[in-house]
Amino acid sequence: MITVEEARALLFDLVGPLPSEQVPLAQSAGRVLSHAVVATRDQPPFAASSMDGYAVKADEVELHAMFKVVGESAAGRRFDGSVGPGQAVRIFTGAPVPDGADFVVIQEDTDRRGDLITITDHPGPKTNIRPAGVDFMAGTPITAPRLIRAEDVALMAAMNIAWVPVSRKPVIALISTGDELVMPGEEPGPDQIIASNTFGLRALLEGLGAVVRVLPIARDTVSSLETAFDLARGADLIVTIGGASVGDYDLVSDVSQGLAMDRSFYKIRMRPGKPLMAGRMGDTAMVGLPGNPVSAMVCGYLFLAPMVRRMLGLEMVLPPFHSARLTEPLTENGPREHYMRAVLGETGIQACADQDSSLLSVLAQANALLVRPPNDPARKTGETVQYLPI
Ligand code: AMP
Ligand code: MG
Repeated sequence: MITVEEARALLFDLVGPLPSEQVPLAQSAGRVLSHAVVATRDQPPFAASSMDGYAVKADEVELHAMFKVVGESAAGRRFDGSVGPGQAVRIFTGAPVPDGADFVVIQEDTDRRGDLITITDHPGPKTNIRPAGVDFMAGTPITAPRLIRAEDVALMAAMNIAWVPVSRKPVIALISTGDELVMPGEEPGPDQIIASNTFGLRALLEGLGAVVRVLPIARDTVSSLETAFDLARGADLIVTIGGASVGDYDLVSDVSQGLAMDRSFYKIRMRPGKPLMAGRMGDTAMVGLPGNPVSAMVCGYLFLAPMVRRMLGLEMVLPPFHSARLTEPLTENGPREHYMRAVLGETGIQACADQDSSLLSVLAQANALLVRPPNDPARKTGETVQYLPI
């Protein structure tokens, strides 16, 4: 059995960054920028007023000074002339500052009678002018790789970047296995349960930016599993759920080997999720998750999520551990790394009472996985432990 870290290294060998594609700016949020993009213009493209007021010469600005208003500069409609001595141009936020002016007296500091304004309050040293290119200049880059957020979309729009190069979304085929499973919404027989973690994993993977193909549930027969693998063709990653252990009906290992899977490992020294297998089938990576709902989801966070991030070309593929103080003691841990379902609150973190790997209700209550190293001794209330937010 290998460690979580060793398993991750092997999993990363199975996948690599996917090619890039261009998407319209409006569809780029949540995607990963694959190549640097550069501004095609300066912003603002001209010296712009940051206030409503009057554009004048800075060296004429003093309390009680008077100016004659000779024109107007509005956003989108500049004043074409230039500002001479004793002159002012009425100006609004975002409007180009006219030639000859280098100061905007804010409206609140002036009094206007007809064409004449008087400065009625100390204007202070701030010019209220945003220099051309103060936000960014033509050629300013946004570097890649980068998960594109709403803020980045706004910046790219301002840079007049209409098409954005992003990593292609990884296509993941999800194969649920088991005679006992039916799809949500179907009528289960007396011995049947609903395929649940299939949908949990789908949500998790789609949230990370993958396209998920949920295939029909494979029955616990060789031919049904073979059909499922056949349907999964073309995916970047095939994920099976269940059938990966040592029971008579655990056929994923045999069937995948029969389909010439080049296995990279089987079984990890961790709880939950020991029977995890991985390998390659031709061009496609394959990961066999344990069927127990919590194990499958925990393996999703720990292994599938970093693989997706890697395929998307992100650099930070591993979620960083955080630390918190225990609000309840913990007993000694066994020889396997343990990812305990836990609740993180304002005063600290507490492991959930029942850690059975079938309990989705407990997983849904948890907002963290408390990480216990192998053979971690008993821990007292107040001690610091590590966790991963979920
Ligand atoms: P297995 O690895 O196939 O022996 O499955 C272990 C346990 O997980 C069994 O109790 C299965 O019924 C359950 N299980 C397997 N796959 C799923 C699934 N997709 N959704 C919910 N439970 C599952
Ligand atoms: Mg099964």
